[in-house]
Amino acid sequence: TSISVPTVKDGDSKSDDDTSEEQISPAEKSLLQKIIRKGLVETTKDIEIQRQDPNSPLYSVKTFDALHLKPALLKGVYALGFNAPSRIQETALPTLLADPPQNMIAQSQSGTGKTAAFVLAMLSRVDVTKEYPQVLCLSPTYELAIQTGEVAAKMSRFCPEIKIKYAVRGEEISRGSKISEHIIIGTPGKVLDWGQKFKFFDLSKISVFVLDEADVMIATQGHQDQCIRIHKLLPRTCQMMFFSATYEPEVMNFAEIIVSNPLIIRLLREEESLDNIKQYYIRCKNVDEKYTAITNIYGVITIGQAIIFCHTKKTASWLAGKMTKDGHAVAILSGDLTVEQRISVLDRFRAGLEKVLITTNVLARGIDVEQVTIVVNFDLPMDQNRQADCETYLHRIGRTGRFGKSGIAINLIDSDHAMELCRTIEKHFGKKIHYLDAEDADEIE
Ligand code: ADP
Repeated sequence: TSISVPTVKDGDSKSDDDTSEEQISPAEKSLLQKIIRKGLVETTKDIEIQRQDPNSPLYSVKTFDALHLKPALLKGVYALGFNAPSRIQETALPTLLADPPQNMIAQSQSGTGKTAAFVLAMLSRVDVTKEYPQVLCLSPTYELAIQTGEVAAKMSRFCPEIKIKYAVRGEEISRGSKISEHIIIGTPGKVLDWGQKFKFFDLSKISVFVLDEADVMIATQGHQDQCIRIHKLLPRTCQMMFFSATYEPEVMNFAEIIVSNPLIIRLLREEESLDNIKQYYIRCKNVDEKYTAITNIYGVITIGQAIIFCHTKKTASWLAGKMTKDGHAVAILSGDLTVEQRISVLDRFRAGLEKVLITTNVLARGIDVEQVTIVVNFDLPMDQNRQADCETYLHRIGRTGRFGKSGIAINLIDSDHAMELCRTIEKHFGKKIHYLDAEDADEIE
């Protein structure tokens, strides 16, 4: 199967002038990252902890059993395939579940288990004998709220008595009615409308408040103010949980407004490296030879999963169209797709329905695709001045973690300029990029 792509005339692909049109918002980036992720990011770093009272005890757990969860909830956690808490969960969970409740600010890169941690805390704090919202979780967008809700639904599948309501666009409630669900997951605007304007639920009865993706939240116009307005209507005793993938002054200033006397936990980002990556380049005369090179190595690259990066979306759609016509199942991710289409493309790729994903830099930033074994640079990354963009190269190719999975990178070179970029990148990282004869793809180890 393949998805249809707009047809572009052969040769159009050579133009380089359509790079700037691909923009991706922080919210979308975060969403795509969640979709493509299959499991936890491997971490070698230690947790950093800050707290106001250094004498207060700090707990950490190595098993989910040690958390003394309700059996049905524990069953839900194991049913998700979680064997042991992630690095951030080891410390976050005992704090989030502690009595009396403790406030927390947690920062770690995407994929380290933050969502699973606060969803578990949200579910375990629910008192099902009370038929009103007690837990409120704010997400920056509709899609991110749904992602969180889906995790909550899965984790609580053996606790059917826990009810969850989305407060997002498209959800409507008739005037005068009251929400009876225990948990509300929504976007700030809708939550303000429902809680403050229409009084569908009582914000002063919320006992757990989660602010997820705080860094994305502040990047969205108006969201921060709405969050603060919601926060003002919560009771003083409400437990505050604040999550962010990044740690900038603006995020921490925001956190200080929302969370008093918190335990702050941080997990430093894992660095990427090229250590376990075999890098190659293939000489081509022109873009058509690049295409031939791709078809020559197709058998090898589809042993695993591959991503092909193009400089422009024109090239990407041209390549996808040509490969599709030649009977290859490829997926294309470009700025032209709607959010829903991007989700569906990444979902299918993650599930392995397509072995090759063609894209531009939309994906290169921030999205780690650890299960991809082969990266092909149809075009080498360069900046606006046509200089080698080593950072983007590392991000496309590099892997994290001590046990970093091995991978293969293949760079297609069709001009002296491209060769220069390749040499610059090779020098920059001090890692050899080997010559590969495209006719002889078996050379690839
Ligand atoms: P974050 O919110 O930091 O991006 P998530 O909670 O979404 O991280 O977790 C990232 C991925 O790892 C998800 O696919 C999730 O199902 C999985 N995951 C989370 N916690 C665990 C765990 N303890 N064991 C195994 N997988 C986990």
